[in-house]
Amino acid sequence: MEKQFDVIIMGGGAAGLYGALNLDKRLRVLVLTKQSETLSNSSLAQGGIAAVTDTKNDSVQKHINDTLVAGGFRNDRRAVEILTTEGPADVMNLAKLGVDFDLNEDGTPNLTLEGGHTRPRILHHKDCTGKAIVDALLVKVHERENITLLSDAVVCELKKTEHTFHALVLLPSGEQVTLHSRFFIIASGGIGRVYEYTTNSAIATGDGITLAYRMGVPIKNLHFVQFHPTAFANRKTRESFLISESVRGEGAYLLNCHGNRFMHEYDERLELAPRDVVSRSIMEEAKRTGSDHFYLDITYKDPDFIRNRFPLIYENLKKEGIDMTTDRIPVFPCQHYLMGGIQVDSDSQTTIPGLFACGECSHTGVHGANRLASNSLLEAVVFSRRAASVINEQALRTPAQFDDFEFSPVLPERELPHGFRTEIRAIMQHAYFVAPDFAAAKEGVKRVEEIKNELDRPGYHLTRDYVEARSLAYVAYIILKELIEE
Ligand SMILES: Cc1cc2nc3c(=O)[nH]c(=O)nc-3n(C[C@H](O)[C@H](O)[C@H](O)COP(=O)(O)OP(=O)(O)OC[C@H]3O[C@@H](n4cnc5c(N)ncnc54)[C@H](O)[C@@H]3O)c2cc1C
Repeated sequence: MEKQFDVIIMGGGAAGLYGALNLDKRLRVLVLTKQSETLSNSSLAQGGIAAVTDTKNDSVQKHINDTLVAGGFRNDRRAVEILTTEGPADVMNLAKLGVDFDLNEDGTPNLTLEGGHTRPRILHHKDCTGKAIVDALLVKVHERENITLLSDAVVCELKKTEHTFHALVLLPSGEQVTLHSRFFIIASGGIGRVYEYTTNSAIATGDGITLAYRMGVPIKNLHFVQFHPTAFANRKTRESFLISESVRGEGAYLLNCHGNRFMHEYDERLELAPRDVVSRSIMEEAKRTGSDHFYLDITYKDPDFIRNRFPLIYENLKKEGIDMTTDRIPVFPCQHYLMGGIQVDSDSQTTIPGLFACGECSHTGVHGANRLASNSLLEAVVFSRRAASVINEQALRTPAQFDDFEFSPVLPERELPHGFRTEIRAIMQHAYFVAPDFAAAKEGVKRVEEIKNELDRPGYHLTRDYVEARSLAYVAYIILKELIEE
């Protein structure tokens, strides 16, 4: 296989794919995905992508304000301005690339409302917007002759020499190869799998964040973790199915164990307060009532409307024996999103020249302490396009040069011990769920550090499981350390 590329992109979610498509066609690009090409948080996104397309009833300034309010004003204002002013063009470009956003009869985008937005501005494809975006971008990526997409290929190590990035990649065959590139984009997604209960897909183990950290790149605000208030509370599986914010956006009520609405006791924005507020209110209400049973109720709406607007959620709930047109939906908060990540500038550049990070693994500062709903797909496309634009300019201006370097193959001396991942998840769930427990965090960080140091010893059999366990140890360590030092 070819081993030298202009750009290697670690990740084939919205950020990786859109970034690849914005790179100049003269550049040789490799996109790597850890498992199948459609397994990512992007593919799971339901609600939609936020952008101001209705300038009569909405404005960029309002989108900026909503983003800042949701983020507790801890956002980077310049990044927010970039996101909101450039976002509409990228969203229109997604439509040109084949994303089938739902339209009104007059051909304008059908806009929905979600928590924290003061205007309806969410473009969507029913309740499976992420899949619609990923599927459309994959078609275009496969059409492009300069882009190679390799699935089931795990980036295990990353190193930079003077002119070149070298990635140790585990191929589906089990073979370990060193691949080289002039530019490297980390677009490896979030960290949800460090928790016992998360809405995130199996790939979300923070591998890219770990590699960047090990290279000395600053990581910022990794403890800014978002807990979504309304994941489906099936209490059986670790991957909790999300009941999108847009269900509340379309009018669903949040009820306590007695079947009563309670958000008026906590926030005047009621069910549509930002996610952190609703999650905290649920935890308070659970203490007050002594019960962790909560429900969403949208049964008062027309059943045909519900089935047509939320086909994915409807079908998933049906499989669990719940008909959302007649039954209340059991919900509870769940880990959902990471606001912090690899520190980047407004062009997605890290402190290492040629190394970029975009999407959920990055920290652009747009989200502050709490992401506004549907701003993350937007961040993924806006900032990956900006990364591509800088790379295009730099790559075409300078001749390609590749340094020699090969990772030595790992000769396995020991296997991954059983139970590390479970232990890390239990520590995180205990130390930091919705609100931190500082005593548990102080205690937990010691054990997590031990596990991290153990997995850093050379000689572990190089498998996806090993790489992911090591990443989870790093991610948990950084989060807990930030928490106790804050
Ligand atoms: C259930 C759910 C619903 C959501 N709904 C919305 C929504 O409605 N609107 C919104 O804006 N946001 C939503 N989000 C958040 C949003 O989907 C994500 O933040 C965003 O899609 C992240 O995109 P990404 O490209 O950064 O990462 P991902 O889409 O997660 O892609 C990561 C990629 O990195 C690859 N990768 C990881 N590690 C390695 C490795 N070691 N080697 C090789 N490849 C690797 C993976 O294989 C994958 O291809 C939702 C998230 C979830 C989980």
